[in-house]
Formats: sequence, structure tokens, C-alpha cells
Amino acid sequence: MTERSDAVLLRTHALGEADVLVVAHTERWGKIRAAARSARKSRRRFASGLGAGAVGAVEVHVARNGGGLWRLDGFVPRIDHGAMGRDLDRFAYITYLCELTDVLVDDLHPEAGLHAALESAICVISERPPEAMMLRRYEVALLHHLGLLPAFDACCVCGSPCADGPVPFDAIRGGALCSDHGEGAPRQSAEVLYCAARLLGDAEQATPSPEVRRALRDLLRAQIHGHLRQPLRSVELFAHLGRSRVVVPADGAR
Ligand SMILES: [Zn+2]
Repeated sequence: MTERSDAVLLRTHALGEADVLVVAHTERWGKIRAAARSARKSRRRFASGLGAGAVGAVEVHVARNGGGLWRLDGFVPRIDHGAMGRDLDRFAYITYLCELTDVLVDDLHPEAGLHAALESAICVISERPPEAMMLRRYEVALLHHLGLLPAFDACCVCGSPCADGPVPFDAIRGGALCSDHGEGAPRQSAEVLYCAARLLGDAEQATPSPEVRRALRDLLRAQIHGHLRQPLRSVELFAHLGRSRVVVPADGAR
């Protein structure tokens, strides 16, 4: 029986002569792996293609015991995926979000909030000029849904609010610390932690200064790095963009 779910395609690669393996994040089942039979030969069922970052709905044949390789019978895109192909920044941003999700999320752990955050991040990047804060917002949402987000605005031991000024912060212990519990811990800027905490909400916020953006990037990157088994390939793409661009946008915080 074919079942349907909203989905984001995270990664695809050739499977044998004619098939394509698709790794997708779905609203119903979380991350799945499905084989699209003859997808490289027949353009009929997958007329819009099966590119990573595509947002839409999958039709899948679910393996009987839930595990193993599923069968992808169809994919109907919901947003125009073409914008991604025409703009290298968008391509790099969306590739990064997909790779990050693929490497950090386990198969078959549905999390509707995470799926919504991923779809929303890709839609925003597709519709507006891409900005690094769009990546930061998704990183925070992903870490939150995986239970890996450090405390940013209260002591992770006793819950008391952080003092003004540089805040003791130790990601391994769980994040921000009060002065009692944070003796000897490295310090993090209170402004950076405030911005990080606000990224989890829906509220739009003013774009922080380049220094704060860079510090946020490094803070979240350190947090993510501790959970990676290997370096992300898409990060090389950012480095390449930085070098190849003639006009660097006023945004050092990639
Ligand atoms: Zn404390």
C-alpha cells in the first residue's frame, strides 16, 4: 500500500544501473531511505527530478516491518526548486541544511516540529535573499529537537538567570552557568547568548552585528561539531563561495 507524507529530500545517489536511493525527511516517519525504481530511466514518475533540498510530498511503499529500504513511488514538489539551482548561495545554504539534518537525525524518529523547521528554513531561503541567520535559526531548532541545545539564558545546573556581562558557559556541562556554578568556566558574551536563545522563538529579530553573528556561528558550530562523525562536505562549499565571490556581502558570519 502506498502512503503519503510531506517531505524534504535530503540526499540522493545512484543505486545500480537505473535506480536512485533517496534519503528524505518526512513529517510522518522522520528520516527514511527509499529506492526510486528506474528513476534514472523513466522521467515520467519523477518529472520534476529528485534533487536534494526539494520540498513536497512523497508517496512511498513502507517496508512491512518498518525498517529496511522503502520504495519511493512518487514525489510531488510544492515549491519551485529552480531558484536553488540558479543561485550558488541558495544552493550552498540548502545543501548545508540537508546535510546537517541527514548526519544528525536518526532514521524513523518522527518529529513534526523538526520537519516544520526544516521546511520553513528551505522555503525562507528559496524566497528571500539568503542570510546566514537563516542557517543559525535552523541549527538552533535542530539542536533543540534533538535534545542537544545548551542552555543559553539560565544556569543549566540551578536554573537561575544569567548575570549581565560575560557569562560562564560550558557546552559539555550543558551551557550557561551562574556565578556559583560557573567558577573557572570559559566566558561567553551575554549578547551572543541572548541572540541564540531568541533564535528558538518565532519572533523576527534585528540582524545582529557582524561580530555577534560570527560568535553565534562559532558557538553553534562548536556545539554541532561535537556530534559529527565526519566533517560536513557542504562547509567546503561555503569556503569556496567566500573565495570566489567578487562582492562579499556585508556578512562575514557564514
Ligand atoms: Zn547555577
